[in-house]
Amino acid sequence: MSPDKHDTGEAPVLNRGVASRLDEVADSGLLDYRSEALPTWCPGCGYYGITHALAGALVELGIENENLVVVSGIGCAGRYPFFLKGYGFHGVHGRALPLAGGVKIARPELTVLVVGGDGDGLGIGGGHLPHAIRRNIDVTYILFDNGISGLTKGQSSPTTPQGQRTGTHPWGNPDTPLDPVVLGLGYRASFLATGFAGDPDQLAGIFTRALAHRGFSFVPIVTPCVTFDAVNITWDRMREGWQPVPEDHDPNDLSAALALALDENRYYGVLYEETDRPTFADAQAGIADRAGAAVS
Ligand code: SF4
Repeated sequence: MSPDKHDTGEAPVLNRGVASRLDEVADSGLLDYRSEALPTWCPGCGYYGITHALAGALVELGIENENLVVVSGIGCAGRYPFFLKGYGFHGVHGRALPLAGGVKIARPELTVLVVGGDGDGLGIGGGHLPHAIRRNIDVTYILFDNGISGLTKGQSSPTTPQGQRTGTHPWGNPDTPLDPVVLGLGYRASFLATGFAGDPDQLAGIFTRALAHRGFSFVPIVTPCVTFDAVNITWDRMREGWQPVPEDHDPNDLSAALALALDENRYYGVLYEETDRPTFADAQAGIADRAGAAVS
């Protein structure tokens, strides 16, 4: 085969603006958390901004690559472990939370991050969420909520609005959507923050607090699926109605957090945080101590 006539064998010459931006990114440390595998998401997908924000949070916290474990289920977000530099587990559909819990129980010193979409986490995996929350397992769960099942080509998901036309419901989705924020607060996640893709600085701050929280951190993020949703969560519509959590909001007040979640406006930031609830590991250690005392 003849060589590509455009391939001179020399490095491409970048214009000065691009070259200096690349230098800035390299100096920022963000690339330290990106693997050599390039993401295969569609151009324009919201996952790129979320990934950028997450790398920013990891840089901020200085988490070592060898101490990071990313666990996913199935879906476009399920590919995440391939694109971050750390340990990863691409699990089966809907089972990321129990897998992540097992990792954390076996290796409590590691930072365990769970990622998944609304179909994976609230559909087939929906039964795991309340139990991970009530056990307060010390992992961070980022839910990529795009209101559609993207990997399977645009089926309705548990968060698809009622009436939206989708691949599985061409005459309109008959079901009422779930609200992951209200669900998480209803189960009383010990940390709950929310936000939207497209503002990585805002998201990086949220992820930093979520990863630093000791206990179960639940972070549902609204993000567009540009390929299979042209009407619900689009880049133009995604920012509608969002405002920062009010400065006088008390994140220890569950009722106030629920009121914000049910408000017609949408609030980004930390809605709820409990810092003194024992984690699953704390509770297990207490049981082991009591059992040891009983037999000695
Ligand atoms: Fe993103 Fe949708 Fe493409 Fe999946 S199908 S990568 S969610 S734009």
